[in-house]
Amino acid sequence: MTLDGCDTLIVTADDTVSGNTLFAKNSDRPPTETQPLVQQNRKTNIANSINKLEFISIPEVEVSYKHVGSRPYWCWGYEHGFNEYQVVIGNEALQSKLRPIKPTLTGMDLVRLGLERGSSALEALDAMTAVIERFGQGKFEHPDGHSTYDNGFIIADPNEAYILETAGHEWAARKVQKSIGISNTYSINNNWDFISENVLRMAGYSDIQKAKKKLNFREFFKDDTKFSYSADQRELRSCSFLDYHSGRITVKSLISILSDHSGEGFQCATNLNSIEPGHGICMHSDAASKGSNTAASLIADLCCDNTRLPIYWTSMYSPCTGIFLPTFIEGKLNESISFGGINASIDSAWWVFYYLNESLKNDGGDAITQLRGEFDVLQNQFFSTAYEIAIHSYNLIHDQKAESAEKILSKYMEENFVKVINIAKSFIKTNKFTQNALNSKLSLG
Ligand SMILES: [Zn+2]
Repeated sequence: MTLDGCDTLIVTADDTVSGNTLFAKNSDRPPTETQPLVQQNRKTNIANSINKLEFISIPEVEVSYKHVGSRPYWCWGYEHGFNEYQVVIGNEALQSKLRPIKPTLTGMDLVRLGLERGSSALEALDAMTAVIERFGQGKFEHPDGHSTYDNGFIIADPNEAYILETAGHEWAARKVQKSIGISNTYSINNNWDFISENVLRMAGYSDIQKAKKKLNFREFFKDDTKFSYSADQRELRSCSFLDYHSGRITVKSLISILSDHSGEGFQCATNLNSIEPGHGICMHSDAASKGSNTAASLIADLCCDNTRLPIYWTSMYSPCTGIFLPTFIEGKLNESISFGGINASIDSAWWVFYYLNESLKNDGGDAITQLRGEFDVLQNQFFSTAYEIAIHSYNLIHDQKAESAEKILSKYMEENFVKVINIAKSFIKTNKFTQNALNSKLSLG
């Protein structure tokens, strides 16, 4: 049994109302593993330098691109992120039959490497597969107890997207032709477009043409002994949702699927079995804090026609008790969003959202209804202001006024953040649960 979940969706431009590609991910992790959102500027690296990743080191490249990533606090890499070229990447835990004998790359290393090295989805795919072949990745035992696994990824830019799936040093990839969701289950069977050469050899094919449409990557590598939560149901659920809403999909639609608990009102293309409580696309740990919980979410609204900046809607902890903040890589993120470690802190937005969720668990439905009322009003305000500012700032940058754009965007993000965090803190403070457990942890006063 594996603890980690995650669901990642890609919506092609012809399926969205706006005509722009959308990407979405829920990162499901151990329930108290802090996941701040961090920003790294573009960096020119010293020649022949070494890049120290989580468990191994690899040669550095000439330039690492500016990016923002959602980073489990102990980790070099990210669960998902986006870069200055509108490349957006998210990963999924997969379980192959392979067992590396020594530490390798992690999936989160690979997300970050793709963002640092890819100025397009294809370039990121090439950078990631090159290091996968050379250094390997996958499930291995780590003495610190961190869970490791093989990986699936969606790698997108405004014009195209790829699904990449891995097993040890091997990989297969396919270009996304229609909107799709992936989960903790291999999705590439014999429908790959690219594959590592060694897989062909392992499977006994002399060349790629002979293997096309025959070599089934999923069947060749998947480990049937590993129970993978509700992965098949979640994959079916997100794909069926995307089919049903095809042509009408918006950021709001994606917020609804990322917040899905398998309840009533879910419209999709097929009859689906309901998912047991806690194991939906919005994943919740149980009453004893066992199992995974959605730790952070991203919806990327990319822009393919150079009329505005891309808007990255980011949420911390459970999307159902959270709010998606419009985030711009061209501005500066609030410090509290980027801060968070093993210990709870009022200075960490992640911990505030964690305790907001905890407090609501103990306060029945009324508090959640009230919170949603307040957050939904703000969310609609963000929808009505974010696109104007994205157009205005794009024009400023186009007119060589990037500094002005940075100031405007940073101020906008800061003002939004203050409104949101004040609501979250006021709910924690007035909640009965706060009186004993939370005040001592967060010193809310
Ligand atoms: Zn939820």
